[in-house]
Amino acid sequence: MEFDLIDRIRVRAHLRDDVILGIGDDAAILQVPADRQLVVATDTLNAGVHFPPDTAPADIGWKALAVNLSDLAAMAAEPAWCTLSLSLPQSDADWLEAFLDGFLDLAAQHHVALVGGDTTRGPLSIGVTVHGLVEPGRALRRDGARAGDDIWVTGTLGDAAGALALLQRASEPVLASACEAGPILPADDVVDPQVARGLAGLRPRLDRPTPRVGIGRGLAGVANAAIDVSDGLLADLGHVCQGSGLAAEVEVDRLPWSSALIDGFDDARRRELQATGGDDYELCFTAESAMRERIEAIAVASAVPVTRIGRMVEGEGVHAIDRDGASWQPRQTGYVHFSD
Ligand code: ADP
Ligand code: MG
Repeated sequence: MEFDLIDRIRVRAHLRDDVILGIGDDAAILQVPADRQLVVATDTLNAGVHFPPDTAPADIGWKALAVNLSDLAAMAAEPAWCTLSLSLPQSDADWLEAFLDGFLDLAAQHHVALVGGDTTRGPLSIGVTVHGLVEPGRALRRDGARAGDDIWVTGTLGDAAGALALLQRASEPVLASACEAGPILPADDVVDPQVARGLAGLRPRLDRPTPRVGIGRGLAGVANAAIDVSDGLLADLGHVCQGSGLAAEVEVDRLPWSSALIDGFDDARRRELQATGGDDYELCFTAESAMRERIEAIAVASAVPVTRIGRMVEGEGVHAIDRDGASWQPRQTGYVHFSD
């Protein structure tokens, strides 16, 4: 089926020396170094659920790989190979070429080889599996946090959810239901009437997230635990708490923001977006306080800012406090995929 499309993918896919056999046979053959562990992650994007239906095909391609590389980054793994499962409503070569522009651009940036996949007809859906490599025992896991660890986050939070809120204001509801990126906010939550300007600043964060691969690698052996922020900071940090049998104290006023987010929303709404908005694909990690200087140096070397936002403590759950030390409650703690 769809041999023409597969051929278009094959001629554009990059190779690596460790790909013994790539696209074209029943399966790929990959040479895993003897001194590395293989780290594997899969994520699927469905139209209208994980990206607005008007998203450019090149951006869909980029994001489909980016969200997967983000999972490898959160494990401190070095990306190596990927496979691509495409469900397409029709055999559209132009759409596919544009999709590959975004997908393969990001793949090239991280030296990832596309080594196989599947192509079927159906509602638009993109499934990607990534394979990465890590030194034995050095992967960053959700269960590795220790009481007293600092909690850190890379980059800025709330931008992707802010873009969705502005999109919602600019047009009819863009998504059938709540989106992965977080709650869709009512129109009167938006302060700045210049929606177009706000979107220009924020939408790239929704459409073309930057997987934090370099700093994730740098944190191997330095951080104790890590997770990528896909469902919202408080929800994702909750997974670290659960995995590690600890609680987290987060100072909500310390959460890093972008200037575009500040421009578009009042303080209360901004905090909500930062604490609970998903789809930012930043890394949240914990590390001993003795590691602070090393972490700052790794951040400078990777050109990714980091911010200390709280502490791991004995107990359970995530506790957010404001600058006066008062308990802070979000209205919603992140996207719930399915209720059952
Ligand atoms: P099979 O029936 O043996 O699974 P397919 O016709 O599905 O073979 O695929 C033929 C080859 O093309 C396989 O090597 C497969 O990995 C590759 N392939 C199919 N679809 C894709 C895709 N979307 N991206 C990358 N490789 C693909
Ligand atoms: Mg197949």
